[in-house]
Amino acid sequence: MLAKLSDLIRALEDDEIVPYFQPIVDLRSGALRGYEVLARWMHPHDGLILPMNFIGVAEDNGLIGELTNQVLRKAFKETRELGLTPRLAVNISPRQMRYTSLPLQIRNSAEEQGFPLDKLTIEITESALIGNIEQATQIANALKDLGCRLSLDDFGTGYSSLAHLQALPFDQLKIDRSFVASIATRRESRKIVAAILGLGHSLDLVNLAEGVEEDAQAEILLRLGCELAQGWRYGKPMPSQAMPHAEAAEPHS
Ligand code: C2E
Ligand code: CA
Ligand code: CA
Ligand code: CA
Repeated sequence: MLAKLSDLIRALEDDEIVPYFQPIVDLRSGALRGYEVLARWMHPHDGLILPMNFIGVAEDNGLIGELTNQVLRKAFKETRELGLTPRLAVNISPRQMRYTSLPLQIRNSAEEQGFPLDKLTIEITESALIGNIEQATQIANALKDLGCRLSLDDFGTGYSSLAHLQALPFDQLKIDRSFVASIATRRESRKIVAAILGLGHSLDLVNLAEGVEEDAQAEILLRLGCELAQGWRYGKPMPSQAMPHAEAAEPHS
């Protein structure tokens, strides 16, 4: 159910929006390469609430900057308190790619919590770039100057334009779950993923397949040359206390 604005404002004040961490692994070896940070709302009465119920509300009411900041800070703080410095990938809303203060905000949060910016990956979706390519490029370059990596999220859905891949300094390409879901059952999906991987490789991007649930999917992705994977097969999003106490190795570069 969609969150009420007043409830969300209260939740942000009461620290109820927290980061969960989903493992990202090397497809070949299975080694941990980092985590994607995903927001969760721990509601005192309703329990755990998923982002689809509150991210849009935050975006529509000017709260997404504050929400992102809180999630980011807590992710840095919680991993530091565990003695871990894994690579972390965070989601930035399309709307945030219109604020030139974004890189500074991210730098401040990282410095405050002692998190190294070269271990941070920023995931942006293509819709962030629509009608906004100049400003988005400026922000993307500033993020790169801080040492962050840039990942193009949900690639292949909705707004795909190859011009975006050319305009922004991406390091990584995330193949949308919708293609992965049918990769073992549909020849078309397999061919599309093969084509995306070919494109990614020729542009020197690291490819990450999201939503990998089954062995058969992982085997096909490996055979097609995909480097990284994320999905229930490797681990669901979890609170920091559940993270394995081994340091994530340096990721693919
Ligand atoms: P996303 O960035 O595409 O994140 C991946 C989503 O796929 C997550 O959903 C994750 O839990 C889910 N997922 C991962 N592996 C599997 C799998 O094997 N099978 C299936 N069926 N699902 C899998 P989640 O956590 O519900 O997040 C949904 C979306 O909300 C995210 O999609 C992202 O766009 C947005 N979001 C989440 N956290 C934040 C945040 O802190 N800030 C912003 N701006 N957006 C966020
Ligand atoms: Ca993402
Ligand atoms: Ca995604
Ligand atoms: Ca998605």
